[in-house]
Amino acid sequence: MQPSIPPSPISPPLAGARAYPAGGLAFPHRDLTGIGLLARHEILFLLDEAEQWVELNRQSQKRAGLLSGLTIINAFFENSTRTLLSFEIAGKRLGADVVNMHAATSSVKKGETLIDTAMTLNAMRADAIVIRHASSGAVRLIAGKVDCPVLNAGDGQHEHPTQALLDALTIRQALHLPRGSDLNGLIVTICGDILHSRVARSNILSLTALGAVVRVCAPPALMPAEIEAMGVTVFHDFDAALKGANVVMMLRLQQERMQGQFIPSPREYRHLYGLTLDRLARAEPDALVMHPGPMNRGVEIDSQVADHPTRSLITHQVECGVAIRMACLDVLTRRARGVAGWESQPSSPAGAAYGAPA
Ligand code: ASP
Repeated sequence: MQPSIPPSPISPPLAGARAYPAGGLAFPHRDLTGIGLLARHEILFLLDEAEQWVELNRQSQKRAGLLSGLTIINAFFENSTRTLLSFEIAGKRLGADVVNMHAATSSVKKGETLIDTAMTLNAMRADAIVIRHASSGAVRLIAGKVDCPVLNAGDGQHEHPTQALLDALTIRQALHLPRGSDLNGLIVTICGDILHSRVARSNILSLTALGAVVRVCAPPALMPAEIEAMGVTVFHDFDAALKGANVVMMLRLQQERMQGQFIPSPREYRHLYGLTLDRLARAEPDALVMHPGPMNRGVEIDSQVADHPTRSLITHQVECGVAIRMACLDVLTRRARGVAGWESQPSSPAGAAYGAPA
């Protein structure tokens, strides 16, 4: 069941305003390695492109042949359930041949270097490579070594750009905002392990670019130093961070990235930072709840909140994830497919000529 959504607290886009340049100038990048490299209008362009795929995915016939004959390699060096599945479904719905490479069964385990793996994938003439890696910056490194578009499916603590895009699309849809809309004035509270979270980082970049007011909340040990420089307000008291929030985004404790003890115990963490129904009452009356998954129920979020029929957007996030990944795969392969208006050379994969970040 889709949540029944409160009226939008934010203003609609200016009538007749052109959100982005025509043709390939709307997205002049070869790769999608991070939100930090995108301008506001480029984010809006990807969100708008994804709307059509949300609609297609709700039909019984979900197949579009746009990428027929292309090969997409999903190279996942770190575990994943929803992101891998989502990229696989996205590629297949667009008609591509999709191949998944799992690091656990690949030559990476035999000591092959990342560059050698990249060169091997490149020699197979993939038309797009989707990479998840435990090291921040690994995806950018590979992008500099291969000849096709590279999409970042999460690199260490750095970025998870498609997660931020799908989150923005989910919010926009939940608030019934039309294409071209940004999130100006929306108050979003992101709570949890901000320090280790690539989801937090990409979301801060995207939400602030779209005009949202972003609050981050975590125990001091899980809050990065000088995060205020990203344009957010820092809270350590979750109740205070919730007051007036329109959207509450909860994050998992990233135990796999923690060296040492960051929280006294899951029980104490839940007591101070867990989202319960009682606590949600401190936010705006219709505040919406999000979580990128996987969830630790009973730690950062209670089941009554996660499964709430009108407040939780968690399954809608998964739905929007497939649509966003379809949009990204379509847009990034347009030059190679010779789509009219997309002939111009994209920016250098090394990033030197990227447009100014928003
Ligand atoms: N699935 C998200 C990620 O890959 C969030 C998480 O793992 O907690 O970063």
